[in-house]
Amino acid sequence: MNGSKPALSVVAPCYNEEASLPEFVRRTTAACQAVVGEDYELILVNDGSRDNTWACIRALASTYPRVVGLNLSRNHGHQLAVTAGLARAAGERVMIIDADLQDPPELLGELMAKMDAGADVVYARRRRRASESAMKLATAHLFYRLLRLVSDVEIPEDTGDFRLISRRIVDRLNEMPEQDRFLRGMVAWLGGVQAEVNYDRDARFAGKTNYTFGKMLRLAIAGVTSFSTWPLRLAGFMAGVGALAGVGLAVYVVAGFVVGRAAPGWTSLALIMIFFATVQFACLGIMGAYLGRIFMQVKGRPLYLVDEEIGGERREESKPRLEALGGSR
Ligand code: UDP
Ligand code: MG
Repeated sequence: MNGSKPALSVVAPCYNEEASLPEFVRRTTAACQAVVGEDYELILVNDGSRDNTWACIRALASTYPRVVGLNLSRNHGHQLAVTAGLARAAGERVMIIDADLQDPPELLGELMAKMDAGADVVYARRRRRASESAMKLATAHLFYRLLRLVSDVEIPEDTGDFRLISRRIVDRLNEMPEQDRFLRGMVAWLGGVQAEVNYDRDARFAGKTNYTFGKMLRLAIAGVTSFSTWPLRLAGFMAGVGALAGVGLAVYVVAGFVVGRAAPGWTSLALIMIFFATVQFACLGIMGAYLGRIFMQVKGRPLYLVDEEIGGERREESKPRLEALGGSR
């Protein structure tokens, strides 16, 4: 090991993963040893799990000397769990990977090879996804296309957070103070040389997805609002459409009145009211989505709180840069 910085840090967010973790650590350790020998650290971030994940991480940290455990004060969500791990990671390169073994750790070799060839970020693109619901696949597909359509940066399709990132990019990520974190977008925004490796996404090793439809929707909205002002412009566009429709209707109604054939009944009236009321509420909703984010950002609260850190040998040297922001103890 060359001093304080390992060649590789692996960051895995864990929420209710007690059933997968032993196998995950076994496979990931083997994958790391095959590529960098002992020159790595494996950071397991417990994101306020309701099961025995933290106890499991403790046990693993006492068995595997390279395992570092971070215990967040509560469930902060996948993106913030990864953020906490990134802030703690000291490695020259950092691999982000899910703890449920849907992302094969054995891909590390390929990711490293692409980075050796000069890439700053090597993301893993999902070619196929084993046993995920049609609903999940359809919504994910739609989400990536929509995001591409509206966002101002090129966010690669069908990639999650499973990727290898260079120290240079990790440092920049740690400096980005945004509260509403959509990491894959932030990494894309940073640019640099981005390369990809294809893989088949496996089924979960155990347990079930923690990404409910609601959480996915929230992530999708975070993705869109963090990387595009297009919805705000949509409100302006709708105002234009509404105004044109209004003028058309006015001409129709007045002309009808003049020639003595006024538009009949409340049906037409009700429809018009429903249409314009819906457009107005939609625009308010869009503005609310941005306003709420501005509000949260302005408060400038810490992104997360680390209750406890265990394991690892370089605890002192690797003070995370984000400490002021992240509020790690
Ligand atoms: N995760 C987390 N906090 C959460 C939800 C999920 O740290 O609030 C972790 C989870 O343990 C897993 C990864 O994020 O390692 C991806 O979650 P999941 O497998 O549920 O999502 P999916 O793969 O179905 O998109
Ligand atoms: Mg998963």
